[in-house]
Parts: sequence; structure tokens; C-alpha cells
Amino acid sequence: MSSIYKKEPTDYTIIQERNKSIAKNTANNIVSITCDSDSVAGTVSQRACVYCGARVVLNPITDAYHIVHGPIGCASYTWDIRGSLSSHSEIYRNSFSTDIQEKDVIFGGEKKLEAAIAEIIEKNRVNPPKLIFVYATCIIGVIGDDIEAVCKRAEEQYGIRVIPVKSPGFAGNKKDGYKAACNSLMTLMKQSKNLQKVKGINFLGDFNLAGEMWLINNYFREIGIQVVSTFTGDACYDNLIKAPSASLNIVQCAGSMTYLAKQMQKQFEIPFIKISFFGVEDTSESLLKIARHIGDEALIKRAEKFILGIKEKTEKELLYYRKRLHNRRAAIYVGGGFKAISLIKQFNDLGMKIVIVGTQTGKAEDYEEIYKLADEGTMILDDSNPYELEKFIKETGADILVGGVKERPLAYKLGLAFCDHNHERKHPLAGYEGAINFAKEIDESINSPIWSFIKEIDSETEGIEDDVRDIFQEVYNEKIVKLMKV
Ligand code: SF4
Repeated sequence: MSSIYKKEPTDYTIIQERNKSIAKNTANNIVSITCDSDSVAGTVSQRACVYCGARVVLNPITDAYHIVHGPIGCASYTWDIRGSLSSHSEIYRNSFSTDIQEKDVIFGGEKKLEAAIAEIIEKNRVNPPKLIFVYATCIIGVIGDDIEAVCKRAEEQYGIRVIPVKSPGFAGNKKDGYKAACNSLMTLMKQSKNLQKVKGINFLGDFNLAGEMWLINNYFREIGIQVVSTFTGDACYDNLIKAPSASLNIVQCAGSMTYLAKQMQKQFEIPFIKISFFGVEDTSESLLKIARHIGDEALIKRAEKFILGIKEKTEKELLYYRKRLHNRRAAIYVGGGFKAISLIKQFNDLGMKIVIVGTQTGKAEDYEEIYKLADEGTMILDDSNPYELEKFIKETGADILVGGVKERPLAYKLGLAFCDHNHERKHPLAGYEGAINFAKEIDESINSPIWSFIKEIDSETEGIEDDVRDIFQEVYNEKIVKLMKV
């Protein structure tokens, strides 16, 4: 039996080595899962490579030049990869490549890299660069170009910061790329490690997607919290080098930034706390937590007053969506544990059921939190692949999948609503405004008439032969286009 939109696979056999990374949550939340390890070869993991992990962390630095030392494909794959917005420079939205070819693989690519740096300097004499990152990709790891030496020579020659990012794609997984990016940021900040401390925060792990950092900065401004530097949403060279003067680091995307926070604690004596600005509860708790860490009674009172006003207004708007989403089933597959945990809380708050929670780079402590928050029977997946996601989405009867660009086609292929919570998104989902946007998007996606129409088509065309199916598909596609225009 088959249908136009849902072709049933014949078998769903999980690759044996993957079984230890898949678990069903129990009533007592005692679950064990293998995580924080390299992907099983041949499983077509949803994870990105080391280089990509480094690039997504550093890319939002608005006035940085990103030279990708490698074949053109690596640069193209990550060109303008984030929906990060900028209040000043737009340089970060370019992608520069040394375009490594066969000849360079044989004779070495260092000369090409030197020429690429020189070209950027030469072409920007009017507005000279302050910061260049040079990324090592897979092939550079294989041929062994000494990018550190090239960057050091360039710094001496041009008097600007040229920082290597040691990120050959194959040398680990996306998480190792985060670490490589954090090491490069530490290299950048060392020049200003002796700055005098001020009463202000560095905001780590927000990438200003769709302007989310601006929303949160508005809250800080109203409460009276000073932001020294941001990592790396809407960041620029001049602000980043001030970061060692902050008195507190707040860490949102824990997966990518906890390592940096620990390094900054060790080398600049800046303590850190973990926060989240996703969902009403987390946003309110985080604002209070920050105020208590850096402020006096007056600041805490201002934070409490601000939260009281905005929370009440937001809750009123959310009531409408809670009624429409009650008991609907959500599947989550996102990059890190921090985001998965925030999403579970948001879905719980909307009265929805969680049926799948998975991450690409979650750690053991993230999964422990996930077991506690998720319902009994929820499928928990680490470093999953499309095949497993399809299996569990069907088995659990999920109504919506929350994920990123790689999960979107899977959801639509299965006739399932989808919410983009990845770094390409174009609408803010953080803060109080983001909580309403999130509920609205989930509602509009789950309750769209398209899904019942697809089910109707499915039942009408069940059993139709393959060669006739294409004709039906064209007719129904036209109907769908008309429906979407209504
Ligand atoms: S670094 Fe390697 S894995 Fe990453 S995009 Fe380039 S070739 Fe692909």
C-alpha cells in the first residue's frame, strides 16, 4: 500500500551501534544514553563538520573577514549561514575562499593563503580590516599547511589581527568546531586581558538571529544592566576586545559557549552563569538571576517590576494559543541540549505533549535534565539521522517537528507541520515577544488546513499504481497551491 505523499518504507531496522544513543524515557527518569561522542560511520548523521561548527560561532562577528582555506565548496556551504543581523558592518555576510585545487594539494596551499590575505588588505585600503579569521578545512588538515605561521607573519606584516581557526572538518564533530572557535576568540582577547573591571556583563551564546539580541538588550537597558560585549551576535572587533573588563558572563547557548566561559573565568577571572531567553519562565528567571548576580537591591527591584508588567501582558496573549494547541504532539530535534530543554519547557507551557527530543551535540547533563522534563515514553535521541527521525515521528504520531534546515524537508515529506528553530530563521523566537511569535508559529503550522487536505489525498489515493500516481499528484499540487493562496 502506498500513497502520494507518504511512501511507506518496508522496514525500519536501526543500525546496531546506534541503539545505545536511543532511549525511551521512563517514569522514574533513569535513562542512560550514549552522547558527546563521534558519529557512527555511515549513518548519515544530521550533524555538521568541525569547520562548520567553528564558522557558525564566529560568523556573526560583523566586521570580521572569514577566509576559508580550502576548496570552494566549504566556503559556499557556509556562506551567510546565519540569520544574524548587524547594527553596523555587513562584511561578515561575505565568504572568502582560497579555492584550493589539485595542484595546491600536491605543492601546498600556504602561498595561496598569503595571497588571499594580501588581496583583502589591498582591496580595503580605505577602510582597512581589523580582524581576519582563517579557517582550516579537511584538505588543509590532510596536506598540513601551517596556517598558524601564515597568520603570525600576516599580523606582523599588516599590523592587524589574523587569527587561525583550527577546524579541519574530519577532526571530530561539530562540537570540536565550537571549541576551535572559542580558542580563536581567546587568542583575540588576550591582548586586552588586563583591562580594569566594570560592572557589566558579556552575553555569550546569542547570535542575534532575526534581531533576538536586540530584544534582550532592550530589557537590559530598561532594567539598567550594562552589556560590555556580545558573543557573537552583532559583535565587532572593538567590543570583543573589551570583553575581559566585564564582571559577569551570561551563557545562553551552553553547547557552544561553556568552554569559552570557563576559559574566561580561568584567564580573566570572570564568573559565569547559565541563562536562557526562550519562553516566558526562562526569560523572567534569567533576568532576575542576572540582576541578583551583578546588582544591588535597587536593580533587583527594577528587574522585578519590569518582569511583572511584561509577563502579564505576554501571558494574556498566550492564552489564545494554549487553547488551540492543547494536547498536540511535538517532536524536537535541534543542535544543542540548551535549546532542547528550553523547547520542552515552552511546549509544556502551551499544554502540548512531547513525543521526541533529540540533539546533535547534547551532553550527559543536558540529557539528565531532558529525562526529568520530558514525559514517560518520550523518545530521546542523540546524533540522530533522517531514517531514525522518520521512524520515531511515525511511531509517536507527532503533529509538528521543530528543527533546522536539514529537518525541514523530512517533515514536509512526511506531511508534518514544521517550525524552524535553527540559525537561518528570520523571525525572533527569544524573549517575551519571541514566546508569542513561537506560539503563533506553532499554531499556524499545526492548525494549517493543508495537513487535513493531505490526509484526504492520502486516503483517496491509497493503493494507486505508481505510474498513475504522478498524474494525480499534479492535480492535487494545483489544489494545494490554490488552498495556500486562500
Ligand atoms: S571542512 Fe570538510 S566536511 Fe567540512 S565542508 Fe569542508 S570538505 Fe566538507
